[in-house]
Amino acid sequence: MGSAQTVLPLILDEVEVLAVDRLSPSFVRIELGGPAMADFGVDGPLYDQRIKLLFPGDDGRLPSFEGAQAGSWWDAWLALPEDERGHMRTYTVRDVRGEGEDTRLVVDFVLHLVDGATGPASTWASKAAIGDRVVVLAPRRGVAYGGIEFAPGNADRLLLVGDETAVPAISAILETLPVDAVGKAYLEIPGPQDILDVRAPAGVRVVWLPRHDAPYGDRLCRAVLTLFGIENGADDDVSVVDPDLWETPTYSSSGEPLDADGDASGGLYAWIAGEAGTVTRLRRHLVRDAGLDRRHVAFMGYWRLGVAMR
Ligand SMILES: Cc1cc2nc3c(=O)[nH]c(=O)nc-3n(C[C@H](O)[C@H](O)[C@H](O)COP(=O)(O)OP(=O)(O)OC[C@H]3O[C@@H](n4cnc5c(N)ncnc54)[C@H](O)[C@@H]3O)c2cc1C
Repeated sequence: MGSAQTVLPLILDEVEVLAVDRLSPSFVRIELGGPAMADFGVDGPLYDQRIKLLFPGDDGRLPSFEGAQAGSWWDAWLALPEDERGHMRTYTVRDVRGEGEDTRLVVDFVLHLVDGATGPASTWASKAAIGDRVVVLAPRRGVAYGGIEFAPGNADRLLLVGDETAVPAISAILETLPVDAVGKAYLEIPGPQDILDVRAPAGVRVVWLPRHDAPYGDRLCRAVLTLFGIENGADDDVSVVDPDLWETPTYSSSGEPLDADGDASGGLYAWIAGEAGTVTRLRRHLVRDAGLDRRHVAFMGYWRLGVAMR
């Protein structure tokens, strides 16, 4: 992929597994590195920086981006026969270690392996060994890439809410906040052993909510809605869910009008991510019943129960 590296405005290259650390029953931390990572970088804190990872297809091979050109690599990838495309999924940069050609992206993968509801990314992560390879799409230093949604502006209080897939993003955000930041973080995780070490400012209360056998999102909804004094909101039916739910001050997957002056000045800023049905439920109540200002919230469906990511 040598020629691609010099022309593309983003990193699109193979990286290798350099370390694997099983953090808990549901999380495995994987360090990904390779020469292309020397060019990794963003302008400012990473916060919830997302990246794409391409996992090998059923034949164990990764798609080739040899000769990819800026502006056409996506179409070229889509033009590949489906069984040669591998599997593209979205992940968060939990941390960056090393520098130069030794730069490594740290990614915390959720292992969802139960009841047959697993997918290529989770399965790959559960077996990953040093030397395994994936393709990464990530920001190239000095070039705008996007992919960071956390934008609290001048908010004076923060609310961070997520399930296990958002634990990497919320952890990275918490570790980057100023020491005088104030707020709450609610994290739903499969079980008590999945509580991870996270550094947070003294003024931010971190609440871990082990799910045990409860349905996805129940504990999270109850905790957050109780915070806003909303009763009985956790059980409501959300049969219509946009699996691509993404409502931020600058983008609306449902086509809602955006406020051109969107700016979280003062007050509360909320960042909410996780299973799309849970996020839909929270959005409904927080915007409708609690009156949260749309300009001060980001609601993001990170995955959808029963639906594989496209
Ligand atoms: C911006 C963004 C950042 C993300 N960051 C991370 C991250 O850092 N770490 C991380 O682990 N995930 C993260 N995710 C979520 C991850 O992309 C999805 O969970 C993805 O579906 C996993 O792909 P898969 O191949 O394992 O499963 P898929 O093939 O997409 O899905 C197969 C089946 O598994 C189910 N499924 C998918 N995810 C889960 C889950 N977590 N628990 C239970 N069932 C599930 C689906 O409902 C489906 O039935 C992020 C998503 C987004 C949009």
